[in-house]
Amino acid sequence: MVERKGIRVSGVVQGVGFRPFVYRLASEENLGGFIGNDTDGVTIELEGDAARIQAFLIRLTSETPPLARVDSVAISDLAPKGETGFRIVASEVLGRVSTGIPADAATCSDCLRELLDPADRRYRYPFLNCTNCGPRYTITRRIPYDRPQTSMAKFLMCPECQSEYDDPLNRRFHAQPNACWRCGPHVWLETAEGAPIESAGPVSETVERLLRGEIMAIKGIGGFHLSVDATSEEAVTRLRQRKHRYGKPLAIMVRDLTAARTLCDLTPEEEALLETPARPIVLGHARKHNGIAPSVAPGIPWLGIFLPYAPLQHLLFADLRVKALVMTSANLSEEPIAIDNREARIRLAAIADAFLMHDREILQRCDDSVAALVDDKPQIIRRARGCVPLAVPLPLEAPPLLAVGGHLKNVLALARGKFVYQSQHIGDLENATSLQFFEESLQHLMRTFEIEPQTVVHDLHPGYLSTGWAKQWASDRGLRLIAVQHHHAHIAACMAEHALSGPVIGLSLDGTGYGIDGRIWGGEVLICRLSGPDPASFERFAHLDYVPMPGGDAAVREPWRMAFAHIVAAGFSGDEARKLVGATEQEARVIQRMIERQINAPFTSSLGRLFDAAAAVILGCRKVDYEAQAAIELEGTAVDLSWERDDPVEYETELFVGDWSRREPSRISVAPLWRALVADVTGGAARPETSARFHAAVARAFIQAACRAHASTGIRQVALSGGCIHNRRLARLLRSGLEAEGLEVFQHTRVSPGDAGLSYGQAVVAASILYSEITR
Ligand SMILES: [Zn+2]
Ligand SMILES: [Zn+2]
Ligand SMILES: [Zn+2]
Repeated sequence: MVERKGIRVSGVVQGVGFRPFVYRLASEENLGGFIGNDTDGVTIELEGDAARIQAFLIRLTSETPPLARVDSVAISDLAPKGETGFRIVASEVLGRVSTGIPADAATCSDCLRELLDPADRRYRYPFLNCTNCGPRYTITRRIPYDRPQTSMAKFLMCPECQSEYDDPLNRRFHAQPNACWRCGPHVWLETAEGAPIESAGPVSETVERLLRGEIMAIKGIGGFHLSVDATSEEAVTRLRQRKHRYGKPLAIMVRDLTAARTLCDLTPEEEALLETPARPIVLGHARKHNGIAPSVAPGIPWLGIFLPYAPLQHLLFADLRVKALVMTSANLSEEPIAIDNREARIRLAAIADAFLMHDREILQRCDDSVAALVDDKPQIIRRARGCVPLAVPLPLEAPPLLAVGGHLKNVLALARGKFVYQSQHIGDLENATSLQFFEESLQHLMRTFEIEPQTVVHDLHPGYLSTGWAKQWASDRGLRLIAVQHHHAHIAACMAEHALSGPVIGLSLDGTGYGIDGRIWGGEVLICRLSGPDPASFERFAHLDYVPMPGGDAAVREPWRMAFAHIVAAGFSGDEARKLVGATEQEARVIQRMIERQINAPFTSSLGRLFDAAAAVILGCRKVDYEAQAAIELEGTAVDLSWERDDPVEYETELFVGDWSRREPSRISVAPLWRALVADVTGGAARPETSARFHAAVARAFIQAACRAHASTGIRQVALSGGCIHNRRLARLLRSGLEAEGLEVFQHTRVSPGDAGLSYGQAVVAASILYSEITR
């Protein structure tokens, strides 16, 4: 029996080889009709034998191409028209052109085979790709995602490439960056002074130089990398000195999974994460004696490793002479990654010994993404190349708005309708270059998704560069401004990911954020809701007891200051505190005066700072080179100890219960914890044990506070968020402990729990406010 069906497919189905896939299926099942892209997916009409249509529908979801993802299939009955042939129709035929741009994807196995096949016409061609792989977002200037709008526009396809591009049955049908030796981009080598380097092959010469210990700047997909031989301590040290990056771990690229296994003990989930098309840097537990230079990741038991994702990178490893390469974003410490050839020559001249250049322009700056398994689930720590653009669903409709995010690890977000579009990782908004990158990304996202914000959302902190920028930008355009408290935004982000309207108990465990009382928050138990008459409000059920932060930001860079404050607050004398943190008498005098007179010593309830303080005493961390370094090292110290252990020695904390009928917050005092910790440290207890006890005590304190909140309010759902949730040990202890108390725990899955997720949470709160206003 002949039938005709209308089929609408939504999900990730554009620019990922979905139309040729459907064309092939329809041809194989002998069906007539057509397929075309529409505004949010594809439209298919099929005509033919009913059983064949059924077979087609099963194969549609079971044989989906690797980069595609089918979210929904809607089917309707149509009257047969007698159509027998199948066609691919132009996008415009079905109305408005789609606004989607796919993320960049790693070289697929078919392309990799061609790359290494001497008989193939693209043998060793550094830019081969197909509809299943290759750059997308980073080479696109504006929508629609078509070759003229990409940086491939200047390369005219040769007849062979063109015929692949035009053939619906070819793997390169409408592969926008399609290219070959004859018609596409090329690589070359040049000196730090910009003079060409003659060699038999730029790639093999690059390998030679890396093996000689040189620092190479290598142009990639989302920017330049600085690369050195990761097994050479001398080369790695030289790179650190020239880059002015001292403590922060460097990422390592290895040839394949087999090589990765020689460096790290990987779980099956971590291996799967390494091999996803996004090819993120994955934090794996480093094996002992793995041959990697010690200064690659000093002080921590993890290595950030990733696999090649561009043909050029595969070629560097092809001859097996290189074991592992440091591949770190090409920039001076904390500046945005360099993307343009001219810009790279200027900015990297003092760092790189030579440059491996190419002439395919990078239009979107994208660092490598970073991910880790937290509580056995992948968590994105830095969302960038391969993971952007990302549309995160919103549980309610939002008018067009811009959320500017926070100060550190900035990510901005645009929202419209039922989606929030987060930008790539921008970085710390501390200098003019980062702010310029922020503006670049904003303009690009506004163009890409055709969103003109009517509202601008910012953090409550009056001193953030992003707050000042938001106020100015909004006033220039006459737009509405909404401020959202930092830790409220964290919890709102987690709630929205799970479509929870609340109320929930939110554990917002974080570095620092500006509180509504003007103090610095970060160890917060909040009651949050995204519905009701006032979705902008939240209640503070409990918090870590305030301690002074001597020297303000200086206390972030120098954890011993926080340790001093905590120890004194726990009842020790200034002299005892001085000895425990290894401060000089002069230093101790200054700090003590700050604390006593409350000069430049703002009060904080930050859990991140408590971790810093503990690391200062347990590990002797006096200064840090990057944010959260002390806390990361403290977690790393206990990595070999099971998190489930029953410890005979427990550090106590105390909950001072407030009168909740008067909305008086409870306070979590860590003074008893400090007294036990100090006794352990002075008694010579092993560092891993002390660290594990500390983690357990912190988790227990917040579980206890959450239980108290449950008893007072009846709320059973708990949302976990904030930068401290990156701490795998803490996240696991909290989740299992809360569940053991009968509470239901929600954690982030797509958005970062850290400040990279802040803009999503800001957008969520603002959308709730705006929604409640129109529906009131
Ligand atoms: Zn491919
Ligand atoms: Zn060609
Ligand atoms: Zn935060």
